[in-house]
Amino acid sequence: MKVFKFGGASLKNAQAIRNMSTIVLDYAEGPLVVVVSAMDKTTNALERVVHAFVKGENYQAEISRIIGYHQAVINELFENPQEILGTLEGLASQLTEKLQSPSEEDKLYDQVVCFGEILSSFIVHHYLTTIGLKNIWKDARELIRTDSTFREGKVEWALSESRIISLKKDLQTHVIITQGFIGGDAEGNSTTLGREGSDYSAAIFASCLQADSVTIWKDVPGVMNADPKRLQAAVVFEELPYKEAAEMTYYGASVIHPKTIKPLALKGIPLLVKSFTNPSLPGTKIHDCKVDHLPPMIVFKDNQCLISCKVTDFTFVNEDQLRAIFDALSELNVKLNVMQNSAISFSFCIDFRENKVMALIEKLQERFEVYYNTNLTLVTIKNYDEQSFETYRKKPGVILEQSSRSTLQVLVKE
Ligand code: ASP
Ligand code: MG
Repeated sequence: MKVFKFGGASLKNAQAIRNMSTIVLDYAEGPLVVVVSAMDKTTNALERVVHAFVKGENYQAEISRIIGYHQAVINELFENPQEILGTLEGLASQLTEKLQSPSEEDKLYDQVVCFGEILSSFIVHHYLTTIGLKNIWKDARELIRTDSTFREGKVEWALSESRIISLKKDLQTHVIITQGFIGGDAEGNSTTLGREGSDYSAAIFASCLQADSVTIWKDVPGVMNADPKRLQAAVVFEELPYKEAAEMTYYGASVIHPKTIKPLALKGIPLLVKSFTNPSLPGTKIHDCKVDHLPPMIVFKDNQCLISCKVTDFTFVNEDQLRAIFDALSELNVKLNVMQNSAISFSFCIDFRENKVMALIEKLQERFEVYYNTNLTLVTIKNYDEQSFETYRKKPGVILEQSSRSTLQVLVKE
Protein backbone atom coordinates (compact mmCIF):
# COMPACT_ATOMS: atom_id res chain seq x y z
CA MET A 1 0.00 0.00 0.00
CA LYS A 2 1.34 3.39 -1.02
CA VAL A 3 0.34 6.95 -0.25
CA PHE A 4 1.08 9.70 -2.78
CA LYS A 5 0.85 13.39 -2.11
CA PHE A 6 0.64 16.01 -4.86
CA GLY A 7 1.08 19.66 -3.92
CA GLY A 8 -0.33 22.80 -5.48
CA ALA A 9 2.48 23.23 -8.02
CA SER A 10 1.90 19.74 -9.43
CA LEU A 11 -1.78 20.59 -10.06
CA LYS A 12 -1.50 24.18 -11.18
CA ASN A 13 -3.05 23.79 -14.66
CA ALA A 14 -4.53 21.21 -17.05
CA GLN A 15 -1.09 20.17 -18.26
CA ALA A 16 0.10 19.58 -14.68
CA ILE A 17 -2.99 17.49 -13.87
CA ARG A 18 -2.35 15.35 -16.96
CA ASN A 19 1.21 14.86 -15.80
CA MET A 20 0.16 13.84 -12.29
CA SER A 21 -2.38 11.44 -13.78
CA THR A 22 0.35 9.75 -15.78
CA ILE A 23 2.29 9.18 -12.58
CA VAL A 24 -0.80 7.82 -10.81
CA LEU A 25 -1.57 5.50 -13.75
CA ASP A 26 1.88 3.98 -13.43
CA TYR A 27 0.94 2.80 -9.95
CA ALA A 28 -2.70 2.11 -10.69
CA GLU A 29 -2.55 -1.55 -9.72
CA GLY A 30 -2.45 -0.18 -6.14
CA PRO A 31 -3.38 -0.22 -3.40
CA LEU A 32 -2.92 3.52 -3.54
CA VAL A 33 -4.19 6.57 -1.67
CA VAL A 34 -3.68 9.90 -3.44
CA VAL A 35 -3.71 13.02 -1.27
CA VAL A 36 -3.98 16.34 -3.11
CA SER A 37 -3.48 19.97 -2.10
CA ALA A 38 -5.31 22.94 -3.50
CA MET A 39 -4.29 23.93 -7.03
CA ASP A 40 -1.39 26.37 -7.21
CA LYS A 41 -1.95 29.38 -4.93
CA THR A 42 -5.66 28.79 -4.33
CA THR A 43 -5.22 28.64 -0.55
CA ASN A 44 -3.70 32.14 -0.55
CA ALA A 45 -6.60 33.38 -2.67
CA LEU A 46 -9.13 31.84 -0.26
CA GLU A 47 -7.28 33.50 2.63
CA ARG A 48 -7.82 36.81 0.84
CA VAL A 49 -11.55 36.04 0.61
CA VAL A 50 -11.76 35.51 4.37
CA HIS A 51 -9.69 38.60 5.03
CA ALA A 52 -11.88 40.78 2.83
CA PHE A 53 -15.08 39.34 4.34
CA VAL A 54 -13.91 40.00 7.89
CA LYS A 55 -12.97 43.57 6.99
CA GLY A 56 -16.34 44.13 5.37
CA GLU A 57 -14.72 44.57 1.96
CA ASN A 58 -15.71 43.09 -1.41
CA TYR A 59 -14.83 39.40 -1.47
CA GLN A 60 -16.97 38.36 -4.43
CA ALA A 61 -14.40 39.39 -7.01
CA GLU A 62 -11.80 37.05 -5.49
CA ILE A 63 -14.31 34.17 -5.37
CA SER A 64 -15.10 34.78 -9.03
CA ARG A 65 -11.40 34.66 -9.88
CA ILE A 66 -10.98 31.37 -7.99
CA ILE A 67 -13.98 29.77 -9.67
CA GLY A 68 -12.97 31.16 -13.06
CA TYR A 69 -9.53 29.62 -12.71
CA HIS A 70 -10.98 26.19 -11.90
CA GLN A 71 -13.48 26.54 -14.74
CA ALA A 72 -10.69 27.23 -17.21
CA VAL A 73 -8.81 24.12 -16.08
CA ILE A 74 -11.99 22.01 -16.39
CA ASN A 75 -12.70 23.37 -19.87
CA GLU A 76 -9.23 22.42 -20.96
CA LEU A 77 -9.21 18.97 -19.36
CA PHE A 78 -12.59 17.56 -20.35
CA GLU A 79 -14.11 17.01 -23.72
CA ASN A 80 -17.61 17.28 -22.25
CA PRO A 81 -17.14 19.62 -19.32
CA GLN A 82 -20.83 20.51 -18.77
CA GLU A 83 -21.60 18.13 -15.92
CA ILE A 84 -18.35 18.90 -14.10
CA LEU A 85 -18.94 22.63 -14.51
CA GLY A 86 -22.38 22.10 -12.98
CA THR A 87 -20.83 20.44 -9.93
CA LEU A 88 -18.32 23.27 -9.69
CA GLU A 89 -21.17 25.76 -9.62
CA GLY A 90 -22.74 23.82 -6.76
CA LEU A 91 -19.47 23.92 -4.83
CA ALA A 92 -19.13 27.65 -5.53
CA SER A 93 -22.53 28.30 -3.97
CA GLN A 94 -21.64 26.17 -0.96
CA LEU A 95 -18.54 28.31 -0.55
CA THR A 96 -20.52 31.55 -0.79
CA GLU A 97 -23.02 30.19 1.74
CA LYS A 98 -20.23 29.89 4.30
CA LEU A 99 -19.89 33.65 4.11
CA GLN A 100 -23.52 34.40 4.92
CA SER A 101 -23.45 33.94 8.64
CA PRO A 102 -21.07 35.77 10.97
CA SER A 103 -18.69 33.49 12.79
CA GLU A 104 -15.46 33.64 14.72
CA GLU A 105 -12.62 34.42 12.27
CA ASP A 106 -10.46 31.29 12.62
CA LYS A 107 -13.51 29.05 12.41
CA LEU A 108 -14.74 30.87 9.33
CA TYR A 109 -11.26 30.59 7.83
CA ASP A 110 -11.37 26.79 7.97
CA GLN A 111 -14.92 26.58 6.55
CA VAL A 112 -13.82 28.64 3.54
CA VAL A 113 -10.18 27.70 2.98
CA CYS A 114 -10.94 23.96 2.88
CA PHE A 115 -12.64 24.51 -0.49
CA GLY A 116 -9.26 24.72 -2.23
CA GLU A 117 -8.66 21.02 -1.59
CA ILE A 118 -12.31 20.08 -2.22
CA LEU A 119 -12.18 21.72 -5.66
CA SER A 120 -8.83 20.25 -6.70
CA SER A 121 -9.67 16.72 -5.53
CA PHE A 122 -13.00 16.73 -7.29
CA ILE A 123 -11.37 17.76 -10.59
CA VAL A 124 -8.63 15.14 -10.20
CA HIS A 125 -11.19 12.44 -9.35
CA HIS A 126 -13.27 13.18 -12.45
CA TYR A 127 -10.27 13.44 -14.70
CA LEU A 128 -8.86 10.09 -13.53
CA THR A 129 -12.29 8.54 -14.07
CA THR A 130 -12.42 9.96 -17.60
CA ILE A 131 -9.09 8.40 -18.48
CA GLY A 132 -10.30 5.06 -17.18
CA LEU A 133 -8.81 4.78 -13.69
CA LYS A 134 -11.10 3.20 -11.14
CA ASN A 135 -11.03 5.67 -8.29
CA ILE A 136 -13.22 6.87 -5.43
CA TRP A 137 -13.38 10.40 -4.00
CA LYS A 138 -13.32 10.52 -0.21
CA ASP A 139 -13.93 13.55 1.97
CA ALA A 140 -10.97 13.86 4.37
CA ARG A 141 -13.16 15.91 6.70
CA GLU A 142 -15.04 12.69 7.45
CA LEU A 143 -11.86 10.67 7.92
CA ILE A 144 -9.39 12.82 9.82
CA ARG A 145 -10.99 13.86 13.11
CA THR A 146 -9.43 16.83 14.87
CA ASP A 147 -10.30 18.94 17.86
CA SER A 148 -11.79 22.37 17.26
CA THR A 149 -8.53 24.33 17.23
CA PHE A 150 -9.31 26.08 13.97
CA ARG A 151 -6.38 26.70 11.59
CA GLU A 152 -4.24 24.26 13.61
CA GLY A 153 -6.47 21.25 14.25
CA LYS A 154 -4.98 18.61 16.56
CA VAL A 155 -5.53 15.12 15.21
CA GLU A 156 -7.55 12.69 17.30
CA TRP A 157 -5.66 9.61 16.29
CA ALA A 158 -7.82 6.75 17.58
CA LEU A 159 -11.00 7.93 15.90
CA SER A 160 -9.18 8.95 12.71
CA GLU A 161 -7.52 5.55 12.54
CA SER A 162 -10.74 3.61 12.89
CA ARG A 163 -12.27 5.64 10.05
CA ILE A 164 -9.26 5.51 7.77
CA ILE A 165 -8.89 1.75 8.23
CA SER A 166 -12.37 1.38 6.80
CA LEU A 167 -10.91 2.47 3.43
CA LYS A 168 -9.07 -0.85 3.16
CA LYS A 169 -11.90 -2.65 1.43
CA ASP A 170 -12.28 -0.03 -1.32
CA LEU A 171 -8.51 0.11 -1.70
CA GLN A 172 -8.50 -3.46 -2.98
CA THR A 173 -10.35 -2.38 -6.12
CA HIS A 174 -9.99 1.41 -6.38
CA VAL A 175 -7.47 4.18 -6.00
CA ILE A 176 -8.65 6.53 -3.25
CA ILE A 177 -8.53 10.26 -4.00
CA THR A 178 -8.71 12.50 -0.97
CA GLN A 179 -7.60 15.90 0.30
CA GLY A 180 -4.60 17.05 2.25
CA PHE A 181 -4.67 19.78 4.87
CA ILE A 182 -8.26 19.36 6.00
CA GLY A 183 -10.13 17.46 8.69
CA GLY A 184 -13.34 17.76 10.66
CA ASP A 185 -14.25 18.26 14.32
CA ALA A 186 -16.90 16.53 16.44
CA GLU A 187 -19.45 19.26 15.67
CA GLY A 188 -19.23 18.69 11.93
CA ASN A 189 -17.12 21.79 11.22
CA SER A 190 -14.28 21.69 8.75
CA THR A 191 -10.83 22.21 10.26
CA THR A 192 -7.36 22.70 8.77
CA LEU A 193 -4.08 21.30 9.99
CA GLY A 194 -1.88 24.37 9.47
CA ARG A 195 -0.57 25.88 6.22
CA GLU A 196 1.23 23.47 3.91
CA GLY A 197 -0.25 20.63 5.96
CA SER A 198 -1.00 18.22 3.11
CA ASP A 199 2.26 16.35 3.68
CA TYR A 200 1.11 15.76 7.23
CA SER A 201 -2.24 14.44 5.97
CA ALA A 202 -0.38 11.95 3.77
CA ALA A 203 1.57 10.81 6.83
CA ILE A 204 -1.66 10.41 8.83
CA PHE A 205 -3.22 8.21 6.13
CA ALA A 206 -0.01 6.19 5.82
CA SER A 207 0.33 5.68 9.54
CA CYS A 208 -3.29 4.59 10.00
CA LEU A 209 -3.11 2.21 7.01
CA GLN A 210 0.38 0.89 7.85
CA ALA A 211 1.48 1.89 4.35
CA ASP A 212 4.70 0.62 2.81
CA SER A 213 5.76 4.16 1.87
CA VAL A 214 4.67 7.74 1.34
CA THR A 215 5.79 9.63 -1.77
CA ILE A 216 5.69 13.41 -1.89
CA TRP A 217 5.85 14.56 -5.54
CA LYS A 218 7.60 17.92 -5.79
CA ASP A 219 9.06 20.41 -8.22
CA VAL A 220 12.57 19.61 -6.98
CA PRO A 221 14.56 16.41 -7.62
CA GLY A 222 14.48 15.45 -3.92
CA VAL A 223 15.53 16.86 -0.55
CA MET A 224 18.50 19.11 -1.13
CA ASN A 225 21.06 20.48 1.28
CA ALA A 226 19.90 24.03 0.42
CA ASP A 227 17.18 25.72 -1.59
CA PRO A 228 18.51 25.52 -5.18
CA LYS A 229 16.90 28.90 -5.93
CA ARG A 230 19.26 30.42 -3.37
CA LEU A 231 22.29 28.21 -3.68
CA GLN A 232 23.17 26.88 -7.09
CA ALA A 233 25.58 24.33 -5.71
CA ALA A 234 22.84 22.57 -3.75
CA VAL A 235 22.94 18.77 -3.92
CA VAL A 236 20.23 16.11 -3.60
CA PHE A 237 20.42 13.62 -0.73
CA GLU A 238 20.01 10.01 -1.77
CA GLU A 239 18.86 9.11 1.71
CA LEU A 240 18.43 10.81 5.04
CA PRO A 241 17.72 9.57 8.55
CA TYR A 242 14.31 10.65 9.90
CA LYS A 243 16.00 12.73 12.59
CA GLU A 244 18.03 14.82 10.15
CA ALA A 245 14.99 15.45 7.97
CA ALA A 246 12.88 16.42 11.00
CA GLU A 247 15.54 18.87 12.18
CA MET A 248 15.77 20.47 8.75
CA THR A 249 12.04 21.15 8.78
CA TYR A 250 12.31 22.56 12.30
CA TYR A 251 14.81 25.13 11.08
CA GLY A 252 12.49 26.13 8.29
CA ALA A 253 13.28 23.91 5.28
CA SER A 254 9.98 24.07 3.44
CA VAL A 255 10.49 20.87 1.44
CA ILE A 256 8.41 18.84 3.94
CA HIS A 257 5.87 20.00 6.51
CA PRO A 258 7.41 19.75 10.02
CA LYS A 259 4.71 17.44 11.41
CA THR A 260 5.16 14.83 8.68
CA ILE A 261 8.16 12.89 9.93
CA LYS A 262 7.02 11.83 13.39
CA PRO A 263 4.05 9.59 12.51
CA LEU A 264 6.14 7.92 9.80
CA ALA A 265 9.23 7.44 11.94
CA LEU A 266 7.13 5.91 14.72
CA LYS A 267 5.95 3.20 12.33
CA GLY A 268 9.13 2.93 10.28
CA ILE A 269 7.36 3.99 7.07
CA PRO A 270 9.82 5.42 4.51
CA LEU A 271 9.14 8.86 3.05
CA LEU A 272 10.19 9.38 -0.55
CA VAL A 273 10.55 12.85 -2.02
CA LYS A 274 10.46 12.69 -5.81
CA SER A 275 10.30 15.00 -8.81
CA PHE A 276 6.94 15.20 -10.58
CA THR A 277 8.59 16.60 -13.68
CA ASN A 278 11.12 13.80 -13.82
CA PRO A 279 9.65 10.77 -12.02
CA SER A 280 12.42 8.46 -13.15
CA LEU A 281 14.95 10.27 -10.92
CA PRO A 282 15.59 8.37 -7.71
CA GLY A 283 14.71 11.29 -5.37
CA THR A 284 15.42 11.11 -1.64
CA LYS A 285 14.50 8.31 0.73
CA ILE A 286 13.97 9.38 4.34
CA HIS A 287 14.05 6.34 6.57
CA ASP A 288 15.83 4.59 9.39
CA CYS A 289 19.44 4.75 8.20
CA LYS A 290 22.85 6.04 9.09
CA VAL A 291 24.60 8.36 6.69
CA ASP A 292 28.23 9.27 7.26
CA HIS A 293 29.54 12.71 6.37
CA LEU A 294 26.40 14.58 5.53
CA PRO A 295 27.27 17.83 3.75
CA PRO A 296 26.34 21.05 5.56
CA MET A 297 22.60 21.78 5.26
CA ILE A 298 21.74 25.39 4.81
CA VAL A 299 18.25 26.57 5.61
CA PHE A 300 17.01 30.10 4.99
CA LYS A 301 13.99 31.34 6.92
CA ASP A 302 12.75 34.73 5.76
CA ASN A 303 10.40 37.23 7.30
CA GLN A 304 11.89 36.99 10.76
CA CYS A 305 11.57 39.48 13.56
CA LEU A 306 14.08 40.04 16.38
CA ILE A 307 12.60 41.25 19.64
CA SER A 308 14.78 42.45 22.53
CA CYS A 309 13.39 42.93 26.02
CA LYS A 310 15.52 45.21 28.13
CA VAL A 311 15.15 45.49 31.90
CA THR A 312 14.57 49.06 32.94
CA ASP A 313 15.51 49.17 36.61
CA PHE A 314 19.28 48.43 36.69
CA THR A 315 18.66 44.82 37.71
CA PHE A 316 19.82 41.93 35.54
CA VAL A 317 17.57 39.63 33.56
CA ASN A 318 16.43 37.05 36.11
CA GLU A 319 14.35 33.92 36.05
CA ASP A 320 11.22 35.69 37.10
CA GLN A 321 11.52 38.04 34.15
CA LEU A 322 12.28 35.18 31.80
CA ARG A 323 9.17 33.45 33.04
CA ALA A 324 7.09 36.53 32.22
CA ILE A 325 8.51 36.51 28.68
CA PHE A 326 7.86 32.81 28.18
CA ASP A 327 4.35 33.10 29.63
CA ALA A 328 3.57 35.80 27.08
CA LEU A 329 4.98 33.65 24.27
CA SER A 330 3.07 30.60 25.34
CA GLU A 331 -0.17 32.53 25.82
CA LEU A 332 0.04 33.83 22.26
CA ASN A 333 1.25 30.49 20.93
CA VAL A 334 4.43 31.98 19.44
CA LYS A 335 7.34 29.70 18.56
CA LEU A 336 10.91 30.84 19.21
CA ASN A 337 13.39 30.31 16.42
CA VAL A 338 16.49 31.54 18.30
CA MET A 339 17.05 33.12 21.71
CA GLN A 340 19.95 34.80 23.43
CA ASN A 341 20.40 36.61 26.69
CA SER A 342 22.82 39.16 28.10
CA ALA A 343 23.05 40.92 31.46
CA ILE A 344 20.26 43.37 30.88
CA SER A 345 18.36 42.08 27.90
CA PHE A 346 16.79 38.95 26.44
CA SER A 347 16.47 38.72 22.65
CA PHE A 348 14.61 36.25 20.52
CA CYS A 349 13.73 35.70 16.92
CA ILE A 350 10.23 34.69 15.78
CA ASP A 351 8.26 34.54 12.53
CA PHE A 352 6.85 37.94 11.70
CA ARG A 353 3.06 37.70 11.79
CA GLU A 354 2.10 41.28 12.31
CA ASN A 355 -0.94 40.91 14.56
CA LYS A 356 0.78 38.39 16.81
CA VAL A 357 4.01 40.34 17.04
CA MET A 358 2.20 43.55 17.93
CA ALA A 359 0.11 41.82 20.59
CA LEU A 360 3.25 40.25 22.03
CA ILE A 361 5.15 43.53 22.12
CA GLU A 362 2.27 45.23 23.86
CA LYS A 363 2.29 42.54 26.53
CA LEU A 364 6.06 42.65 27.02
CA GLN A 365 6.03 46.43 27.30
CA GLU A 366 4.22 46.05 30.62
CA ARG A 367 7.59 45.01 32.09
CA PHE A 368 10.36 45.79 29.62
CA GLU A 369 11.70 48.30 27.22
CA VAL A 370 11.08 46.50 23.94
CA TYR A 371 12.99 46.93 20.67
CA TYR A 372 12.35 45.08 17.45
CA ASN A 373 13.69 44.63 13.91
CA THR A 374 11.76 43.09 11.04
CA ASN A 375 12.60 41.85 7.55
CA LEU A 376 15.36 39.57 8.77
CA THR A 377 16.50 36.21 7.46
CA LEU A 378 17.55 33.43 9.77
CA VAL A 379 20.17 31.20 8.19
CA THR A 380 20.82 27.86 9.86
CA ILE A 381 23.85 25.79 8.90
CA LYS A 382 23.49 22.30 10.25
CA ASN A 383 26.52 20.03 10.21
CA TYR A 384 28.71 23.00 9.31
CA ASP A 385 32.28 22.56 8.17
CA GLU A 386 35.06 25.09 8.48
CA GLN A 387 34.34 26.74 5.19
CA SER A 388 30.59 27.15 5.62
CA PHE A 389 31.11 28.30 9.21
CA GLU A 390 33.38 31.12 8.10
CA THR A 391 31.28 32.07 5.09
CA TYR A 392 28.08 32.53 7.04
CA ARG A 393 29.57 34.16 10.14
CA LYS A 394 31.14 36.79 7.94
CA LYS A 395 28.04 37.39 5.86
CA PRO A 396 27.36 41.13 5.68
CA GLY A 397 24.51 42.28 7.88
CA VAL A 398 24.71 39.62 10.62
CA ILE A 399 23.00 41.04 13.71
CA LEU A 400 22.96 37.91 15.86
CA GLU A 401 25.02 34.76 15.81
CA GLN A 402 24.83 31.52 17.73
CA SER A 403 26.63 28.22 17.35
CA SER A 404 26.72 24.81 18.93
CA ARG A 405 28.97 21.88 18.04
CA SER A 406 26.94 21.02 14.99
CA THR A 407 24.80 24.02 14.13
CA LEU A 408 25.46 27.66 13.35
CA GLN A 409 22.66 30.20 13.16
CA VAL A 410 23.00 33.76 11.95
CA LEU A 411 20.28 36.37 11.76
CA VAL A 412 20.87 38.66 8.83
CA LYS A 413 19.53 42.04 7.82
CA GLU A 414 19.88 42.06 4.04
N1 ASP B 1 -3.22 24.02 0.28
C1 ASP B 1 -2.66 24.16 1.60
C2 ASP B 1 -1.67 25.31 1.66
O1 ASP B 1 -1.35 25.88 0.62
C3 ASP B 1 -2.03 22.90 2.10
C4 ASP B 1 -0.81 22.43 1.34
O2 ASP B 1 -0.52 22.94 0.27
O3 ASP B 1 -0.12 21.55 1.85
O4 ASP B 1 -1.23 25.65 2.72
MG1 MG C 1 0.92 23.88 -1.01
